[in-house]
Amino acid sequence: MTFRSLKLIDPLLRALDELGYDDPTPVQRQAIPAVLAGRDLMAAAQTGTGKTAGFALPLLHRLTLEGAVAPLGVRCLVLAPTRELAEQVYASFRKYGAHVPLRYGVAYGGVPIEPQINKLKKGLDVLVATPGRLLDLLRQGTLTFTQLQTLVLDEADRMLDLGFAADLDTVFAALPPGRQTLLFSATFPEAIRTLAGRLLRDPLSVQASPANAAAKTVRQLVITTDKKSKPELFLHLLRERGWQQVLVFAKTRKGVDQLVGVLQQQGIRADAIHGDKPQPARLRALARFKARDVDVLVATDVAARGLDIAGLPLVVNHDLPTVAEDYVHRIGRTGRAGATGEAISLVAADEVDLLKAIETLIRQVLPREEIPGFEADHRVPSTGTPASAAQPGARKSAAKPKGAKAPVSPAAPRPAGGFGPTAPDRARPAKRIPQGSVVVAAGRGAKSTAKTAAKTVAKTTARPSPRPTKKK
Ligand code: AMP
Repeated sequence: MTFRSLKLIDPLLRALDELGYDDPTPVQRQAIPAVLAGRDLMAAAQTGTGKTAGFALPLLHRLTLEGAVAPLGVRCLVLAPTRELAEQVYASFRKYGAHVPLRYGVAYGGVPIEPQINKLKKGLDVLVATPGRLLDLLRQGTLTFTQLQTLVLDEADRMLDLGFAADLDTVFAALPPGRQTLLFSATFPEAIRTLAGRLLRDPLSVQASPANAAAKTVRQLVITTDKKSKPELFLHLLRERGWQQVLVFAKTRKGVDQLVGVLQQQGIRADAIHGDKPQPARLRALARFKARDVDVLVATDVAARGLDIAGLPLVVNHDLPTVAEDYVHRIGRTGRAGATGEAISLVAADEVDLLKAIETLIRQVLPREEIPGFEADHRVPSTGTPASAAQPGARKSAAKPKGAKAPVSPAAPRPAGGFGPTAPDRARPAKRIPQGSVVVAAGRGAKSTAKTAAKTVAKTTARPSPRPTKKK
């Protein structure tokens, strides 16, 4: 199947050609025809599967062919949980829509609102926004939804995690009921299934890669140590293993700043990205990391989604996330679009419950290693995750394994929902993949989660008109 066979208009095909996209990804193959036909969509698609083009391309096609925007109007609204994701989706619309005469805008908090208001005056064909700032704009009467055709909820689970439920309800109440709605979510907890049941009308369910499954191309490893040894251990590994470009996650903003301080003192080019930093500083840090002017980018979970760094080889969890799903999102920054990546978690004894929750979620026991000189005084207990949870994987490490072992697999498999390893702008030479690492497979049970979600939605035969917020 080609993009041309999906019957997208020529200016979009031209943009795809310029970007070097040869073939649509699985999520694009499923989503594009449905969205072109005006259907609602419920998609279990992680970032890295090409989901953004999966909704952006058919929407750009329809917006180009179906009329023009009036002043203050918005024809397509994309809601995203974080500024980073909003910026990225906005950039994608501009990229894919480079040759169509449409107007795009992005709105999020933490930056002056006036330029956003000014842009809205002439109307926007596509507005990408975070829920809070969108509500500010709405309350100030700077936009209207009378022309709205499509609502896209990107990373819906994350929006709920970040406490946007009430804001979302207020936004939904302001939208015309006859619109098309597309819901993208990496995971499908009960709250998302309920939301889908309320908002979607006879949706097509798309499963681009198994929900809650770590990307198949990410080699995962736990290194056990004591809490206080983590910064030193990280420094040791950085030097010893010659890490070139590392995205590191820490639990708190303070933790992020402390680690960056330690690294900078050692002359390492490191920068931070977290919610306390003004947006321009966050964008600057990301741009410097992408340009390789910074070798280590330390982030909180707010940055875990929406960061698209081509060919990122390594993610390190300096601390495990408190929400197990965030682990999947964190490690999803690497191993994208068919490339192979590595995810290393430094785990101390007091994090064993978090590790257990992660292993249960991804249905695999993560292999463990200890680094001589950094062994844990407080031994990290076994998680007790049943051996049956382990997925086929491989271990070929020189270091003594502790904990569960997995059977050997010859090579990293290709992700179910990703691109072929030959995708032109994404392939990374195999020699950059560190040796002695672990290959894991995707989790089981994801399909049944998706089926349950689909059933919940199928039960909803009529779409209730949007309700005003019910404050709990
Ligand atoms: P997404 O999952 O939307 O965040 O996309 C992940 C990455 O894949 C982005 O860098 C896209 O530019 C890239 N991408 C999307 N679709 C394709 C395609 N059909 N072929 C090659 N790369 C793609």
